[in-house]
Amino acid sequence: MGGSNNETGGKKKIVSVHWFRHGLRLHDNPALLESLRNADEFYAIFIFDGEVAGTAKAGYPRMNFLVECLQDLDANLRKVGTRLFVLYGQPEKVFHNLFQEWGVNRVTFEQDPEPVWQERDAKVRAICNSAGVQYVEMVSHTLWEPQLIISANGGSPPLTYEMFCQVKKMVDQPPRPCPLPDFSGIKLPDPKTPNAKFHVPTCEELGVYPESEQQKNPLSGYKGGESRALELLAERIGKEQQAFKQGRYMPNQSNPDLTGLPMSLSPHLRFGTVSVRRFYWAIRQAYMEVNNCEEVPDSITGQLIWREYFYCMSVNNPKYNVMKDNPICLDIDWYYNQEQLDRWARGQTGYPWIDACMRQLRDEGWVHHVCRQSVACFLTRGDLWIDWELGLAMFDKYLLDADWSVNAGNWMWVSSSAFEKVLQCPRCICPVYYGRRMDPTGDYVRRYVPEVKNLPLLYQFEPWNAPKDVQEKAGCVVGRDYPPPMVDHKQASKMCRAKMEKIKNKCRDIPHIAPSNAEEVRTFIWMDSKEMAESTTQCQQHGFHRAMKANLGP
Ligand code: FAD
Ligand code: MG
Repeated sequence: MGGSNNETGGKKKIVSVHWFRHGLRLHDNPALLESLRNADEFYAIFIFDGEVAGTAKAGYPRMNFLVECLQDLDANLRKVGTRLFVLYGQPEKVFHNLFQEWGVNRVTFEQDPEPVWQERDAKVRAICNSAGVQYVEMVSHTLWEPQLIISANGGSPPLTYEMFCQVKKMVDQPPRPCPLPDFSGIKLPDPKTPNAKFHVPTCEELGVYPESEQQKNPLSGYKGGESRALELLAERIGKEQQAFKQGRYMPNQSNPDLTGLPMSLSPHLRFGTVSVRRFYWAIRQAYMEVNNCEEVPDSITGQLIWREYFYCMSVNNPKYNVMKDNPICLDIDWYYNQEQLDRWARGQTGYPWIDACMRQLRDEGWVHHVCRQSVACFLTRGDLWIDWELGLAMFDKYLLDADWSVNAGNWMWVSSSAFEKVLQCPRCICPVYYGRRMDPTGDYVRRYVPEVKNLPLLYQFEPWNAPKDVQEKAGCVVGRDYPPPMVDHKQASKMCRAKMEKIKNKCRDIPHIAPSNAEEVRTFIWMDSKEMAESTTQCQQHGFHRAMKANLGP
């Protein structure tokens, strides 16, 4: 491998390394282009440091997805005559060696804006500086550099989603995707030489094993890697086009297909196997073509803006993912109840809709947004009044797309700890009626909670209300074959609501939980106003024939 003789004919030889962390792709990768610019030699590396890309807490589904991403990246690099080098250790130490061994004098990487990565990157910048090595850091994980939005807002992040939308109008549109990299004329390490020690590891080699058969063969069908991400993007844009032709938008959300293969790009956005800018501009392009227009309403790309918003809120807040000392998070006196937490986590709450969601999460690393909202609401301000951080940890372990900013942002939102003021979660997310609305055929619940599959559809979402003989006939006797509901939703949600009212009155003037409005809630929760009203009434009328005693923590 190249020594440290960096002089070629008097001109300094440029030996570049592109350090992949997130952004595991070749397309729209400005830092990678910078790495290749005028370079004489080029190496692509990934470093397992125990933390990178959320690996510190990843269970099997997400670790396996990451391994697939790296395998695909390696395969795509081999197509252009090189390979991915996988290394281990503290990045600053790894770089120290690479400066010596490979004669590296340029390091490039994509900006990782979240506070959790800052210490790592500061150390690498420092070692580059002290070794006289150039480093180049470029923005492409987010549409806008968060600091750009913060500056446009006068130095602090816009506190609400609505404010964020206003501020983004003051800055330019996000950059267009950049061209594909060109490796020609650059000396690339032979993919077959240096030896197997740099190969992409398996999950087993990383010490992460599947917990169940389902985790080995998940039904969700996600596969990591840029190749699959780009196929999925094309399928998804086709779906958006169809919807635009019918005068609809956000087709992935408005009619959730819970049993079909998921169309969401979020796991790919999380690892950067698809570029968020490419997704953003492709949706806009599809809209403009179908409608033969040049203006695109904000709502068309609204979900991507939520992602930007949460990133922007988190960049200057290292305590963003915890309640204590987090300046934007309400201090709420959540209960601690390990047994209830375990029942929720294992999918044994006795509410088939909630249990289906939790079991799918564990088995597949994937659940739809409507499922996430339901289980998060149930755990926190809807029913159990348990700390959102404990739910966050469960999501952080299993979700393929678990993301430091977006995950915590959503948990704070759903639990009413920050960002929103008027959401009446216990009303609009009733674990029976909301489930029925999202899974009208019951196919989803039957798939993940087979215990209830022979009950008539009417009772599949509330088995305890089925007459005893119906339960017997269906082989689903509540208390024998399937647990009774762990709380009476009607009573539990009433208590939670009362507690929330008190909190709201106490903090009426705290700016960070205001002003959100009913419209914002509806777009987040994906219900229209009529449905929200209906769901409220149904839920209030919903009596428990065999009333269960509320069991609300200590
Ligand atoms: P697509 O439409 O394919 O993509 C749109 C993209 O927009 C998503 O990939 C995501 O990056 C972004 N997006 C969509 N909804 C939201 C949202 N509510 N907040 C911020 N960004 C959003 N999403 C994650 O990517 N990572 C997480 O860790 C995560 N944790 C969540 C935790 C909870 C409690 C809840 C309720 C939601 C969470 N989400 C998270 C948001 C959301 O559920 C997923 O992004 C969504 O399922 C992606 O599906 P989609 O069809 O909207 O994606
Ligand atoms: Mg979405």
